[in-house]
Amino acid sequence: MARILIIEDERPMRTALQDCLEAEGHRVLTAADGEAGLERAIAEKPDLVLLDIMLPRLDGFALCAELRRLGNPVPILMLTAKGQVEDRVTGLDAGADDYLVKPFSTDELMARVRALLRRTRRESSSRQILELGDVRIDFVWQRAWRKKKELHLTAKELAMLRLLADAQGEPVTRERFLDAVWGYAAFPTTRTVDNHIASLRRKIEPDPDHPRWIKTIHGIGYRLEPG
Ligand code: CA
Repeated sequence: MARILIIEDERPMRTALQDCLEAEGHRVLTAADGEAGLERAIAEKPDLVLLDIMLPRLDGFALCAELRRLGNPVPILMLTAKGQVEDRVTGLDAGADDYLVKPFSTDELMARVRALLRRTRRESSSRQILELGDVRIDFVWQRAWRKKKELHLTAKELAMLRLLADAQGEPVTRERFLDAVWGYAAFPTTRTVDNHIASLRRKIEPDPDHPRWIKTIHGIGYRLEPG
């Protein structure tokens, strides 16, 4: 169960969203305009915000940007109108985590909500620093170094490493990587995972052909040898 804030000015849409989320056992807070929504988001610290874009008093983009400016990390799922590709880009630029195109199905809504809540739970419970020999990875700052030299890991490589680290020496399947790092909405193949692992090994392994840290588990996936 999570506490979810819906910021949406159209009452039928707000009620429909509320019904869906409550049926899944979530606690729902609502706001009907941008200013009230911003206040509730700050004061009530919800686990997730569903944010409409066209809102009276303060629009969704401005609201989202303001929350991020204040350092508020709450996951934000933006609700965009059909076909407004620019809206989605602007929303993601403003700091939204994901978007949902209206009209959407209940299943789609719930899948996105679950994915965002899962991601936050994982992040809050997982480690912040990983050390592998002389390689040091800081997941908060999203940076990595070998001794003093910075290693330029991509966001996906960092996310894969984090998943491996959180598994605490247990194998992580290719499917798990795809689900957690690429998200269910993308369509990469398991080969994509292997390519990214190869790139990661070239950056962090002393001898990429004979990996010391990221071990291949044949037929399953990969596991991280504890440093
Ligand atoms: Ca609206």
